[in-house]
Amino acid sequence: MTFDEAALCESLKRNVSKSGYVKPTPVQKHGIPIVSAGRDLMACAQTGSGKTAAFLLPILQQLMADGAAASCFSETQEPEAIIVAPTRELINQIYLEARKFAYGTCVRPVVVYGGVSTGHQIRDLSRGCNVLCGTPGRLLDMIGRGKVGLTKVRYLVLDEADRMLDMGFEPDMRRLVGSPGMPSKENRQTLMFSATFPEDIQRLAADFLKTDYLFLA
Ligand code: AMP
Repeated sequence: MTFDEAALCESLKRNVSKSGYVKPTPVQKHGIPIVSAGRDLMACAQTGSGKTAAFLLPILQQLMADGAAASCFSETQEPEAIIVAPTRELINQIYLEARKFAYGTCVRPVVVYGGVSTGHQIRDLSRGCNVLCGTPGRLLDMIGRGKVGLTKVRYLVLDEADRMLDMGFEPDMRRLVGSPGMPSKENRQTLMFSATFPEDIQRLAADFLKTDYLFLA
């Protein structure tokens, strides 16, 4: 698969090309068709492998094709995609990549993370959000405050899942997945990325992904 063959709309193709991406990396080559086909995915991929674009491009493509429009100035935002990563640096990188790819389209990514006050993030959210990137605790905080609703979630991405476990985020991840309104795994598409695939990650995959999920190593 090349980016030309990836069935991306013109604006997405233009933004990918502006980012300087010419040839897909292996995780993009194999992962994009799986995600585009609507399958759940557990991918063993390191930072630097290009995994961010492997999940962002097919998700953004689908949201753009459906004309997803974020509801501006709404007290509670109902994102269609939620992307979770363990640290502020990682989630910010994902957010910046999403913004680059979504430039000039109807998709509006927003990022929330802990360690800073919530005011600015709440204001940013209220301007509209259909792709929400966040660290686990701050996402739960925004859900608890009623700033984020989960009923429209179609895509849930858990990035660096092994690091999230190492950092003690398993209870938060389980709380997020079990939060009121979050569609069941049968009714959403879930993607997990992890550098390793030990027993605790296998257990999470079994709990969060559909039984027929695909495994990419
Ligand atoms: P990631 O593993 O997603 O964190 O990506 C690592 C770095 O590689 C990021 O700086 C990306 O912008 C870059 N990158 C990802 N995919 C490609 C590609 N197909 N061509 C060139 N650079 C890429």
